[in-house]
Amino acid sequence: MEEGVCLHEFIYDDAGNAIDYAITDINPAYELILGLKREDVVGKCATQVYGSTSPYKDIFLEVAESGISTRFESYFPPMDKHFSISVFSSKKGTFCTVFSDITIQKKNEQELQEAKKSLEFAMEVAENGFWDWNLDTDAVFCSPQCMAMLGYTADEFPQTLEFWVSLLHPEDREMVLQTIEDYTHQARPYSIECRLRTKDRGWQWFSDSGKSFELDENGHPHRAIGVLSDISERKAHEARLRESRERYKGLAESTPVGILTCDTKGNIDYVNPKLLEILGSPGAEATKKINLFTFPPVVKLGFPGYLETAFETGIEITFEDQYKTKWGKSLHFRCHINPIKVDGSVKGATVVFDDITDRKNAELRLQESEELYRAVTENSQECIFILQDNKVIFVNGTLCGMLGYTKDEIYSMDIWDFVHPECIHDVQTKINSISITNPVSSVCEAKILTKDYRTIEAEFSITATLYKSRPALIGAFRDITHRKSAEEALIQGKALAEEASRTKSEFLANMSHELRTPLNSIIGFSQMLGTNSFGNLNEKQNKYLSNIRHSGELLLEVINNILDISKVEAGVMELNIENILIHEILESTETLVHPLALKKNITVEIDVNPRNLEICVDRIKLKEIIYNLLTNAIKYTPEGGRVCIKTGYVNNELRFSISDNGIGIPPHMQDDIFEPFKQIGSFSNKEYKGTGLGLALVKKYVELHDGRIWVESEEGKGSAFSFTISD
Ligand code: ADP
Repeated sequence: MEEGVCLHEFIYDDAGNAIDYAITDINPAYELILGLKREDVVGKCATQVYGSTSPYKDIFLEVAESGISTRFESYFPPMDKHFSISVFSSKKGTFCTVFSDITIQKKNEQELQEAKKSLEFAMEVAENGFWDWNLDTDAVFCSPQCMAMLGYTADEFPQTLEFWVSLLHPEDREMVLQTIEDYTHQARPYSIECRLRTKDRGWQWFSDSGKSFELDENGHPHRAIGVLSDISERKAHEARLRESRERYKGLAESTPVGILTCDTKGNIDYVNPKLLEILGSPGAEATKKINLFTFPPVVKLGFPGYLETAFETGIEITFEDQYKTKWGKSLHFRCHINPIKVDGSVKGATVVFDDITDRKNAELRLQESEELYRAVTENSQECIFILQDNKVIFVNGTLCGMLGYTKDEIYSMDIWDFVHPECIHDVQTKINSISITNPVSSVCEAKILTKDYRTIEAEFSITATLYKSRPALIGAFRDITHRKSAEEALIQGKALAEEASRTKSEFLANMSHELRTPLNSIIGFSQMLGTNSFGNLNEKQNKYLSNIRHSGELLLEVINNILDISKVEAGVMELNIENILIHEILESTETLVHPLALKKNITVEIDVNPRNLEICVDRIKLKEIIYNLLTNAIKYTPEGGRVCIKTGYVNNELRFSISDNGIGIPPHMQDDIFEPFKQIGSFSNKEYKGTGLGLALVKKYVELHDGRIWVESEEGKGSAFSFTISD
């Protein structure tokens, strides 16, 4: 706006004192600025126009008197305006004012000052400081708060960029300078966090935000201002938070239980590695895709209900269930939902999963084994009991049933209450011999008493064990009353049978003796008749005589064999033990059967290994054994066959084997042929003649020598009779 111009001339009184000044001329701008009309102003005195000579009369007079120009700004109360006024004089007593209305500018300045004060105050309250950087000179003006934060007074703080740079932490310097460079020259706001060296507190964290402005025509800024705040507390807090987060994370990652955290919408935001392992999940990201309110298998589990209750009540919830995970793992789990509360309101939950599959399986196995044990003990025919300090602490139902007591009655008794007094000593001795270090199972027989005073014969078996970590005796008994009576009867029966057998054998021995005498005369006299010494016999007579003799001889053989068997059975057969060379016995016996073998063109081989094998036996009996087996082998082998006698040690036992390639024995007869009179085929129509007593006698003789005899045979291929003899 154009400036107002006004010409004045001082009015003096008689004494030459300036009392007022008159306005001699004005320009149009004057009228506009002051809102006065020319005719109301020109030719008038200041007191008339302004109501007084104005507060500037003295200044104007000075200029009008001295001719030295001046300029000042002033608030003009009558008009409530600020003016910038220049005063000069070209002639003494006159002066000219050139003025402009700076009211708006002044108000702005004032507001700016006030705003600045408010800002400083706000910054002081917020513990922030501000700086003002002249990019042309690199002078940096700092607010007192700014300096105070760094621990300096205004005197100590050089207001230069260089000083600021010297305060930067070496590790942050490059980043800070680069950021300022980038942002300041683009006049973009920036905000950084860095460490600055304070005067007395060492390195501290500060936040610095700034922006450049006053750009020149090339877009380069001349100034930048910014705010500095001390964030060391926040940084320390953050560090503590980080540390606690790390600690919590470390804890969560090393814990043996699965952990997840979720928000109130069921979105998973954290899962620990153990949970991934429990679920069989390929990774955290895959698991986080599950929403705990909507994922169908989780919904089926009723999980949303638990979660909602925990969110609504803020109370921890624990439950156990089974779950088949998305990745095919079946597990039993125990789940603990713990709501996360911040300032009293629930923000989510920590969910802890414990895989209890092994425990559940163990429980199941325990239950099964418990059931099994119950089934076994309760259904056992045995009466089972456990004693501790002689007190009955466990019995099964069978025991209660047998003794007629209830379990409760028995549990208040000790063992001696149901052991018959005459057996207490024996049972006590048995029990004393058992201990946990010597837990051999001890078996004894004792009488026990029932509730109704009956006596039961029982067989006990007791052993030591640990029950509830303390030594105990576990035992079982059974009623052997019937067995005892049966045994008794058996013993008596056996004695009777033995007596009868002895009597029978004695009878047979006597009988045989009585039979042999007349039989010998029959054979003797028929032999004599056969010599024709008492007259010649015709052919028929000779044939009948021969029949008499053969039948007599066969009968004698039968009687002899019966006599020998009876002797053995009656226990009167004596052994005459001597040391003999086996090959001698075998060879001499072979000589005896040689004519028989020759008749059927059968070869007989003898194999004694080693040849000089000796044995302590009854020579006659061994010879009889071998003779019998050899004659059988030849008898039951067709013409041109082969018989072999083999002797040697097999498994530390001296074994004899007489084998042939004869007719063999059917399997069902192989055991029977050792019984008296057992022969293959019926006696009447059989083709081979014999008494059926040979093998029975052989068996008796072998057993007299503590040996065994057996046969291996195949029909049509041959037989091998083997026997052992105890040396
Ligand atoms: P026996 O006097 O009838 O031969 P044994 O007691 O000696 O009486 O034999 C009983 C039966 O065992 C015989 O009748 C015969 O049937 C059968 N036996 C014995 N030895 C042989 C053998 N080496 N081969 C076939 N059968 C045999």
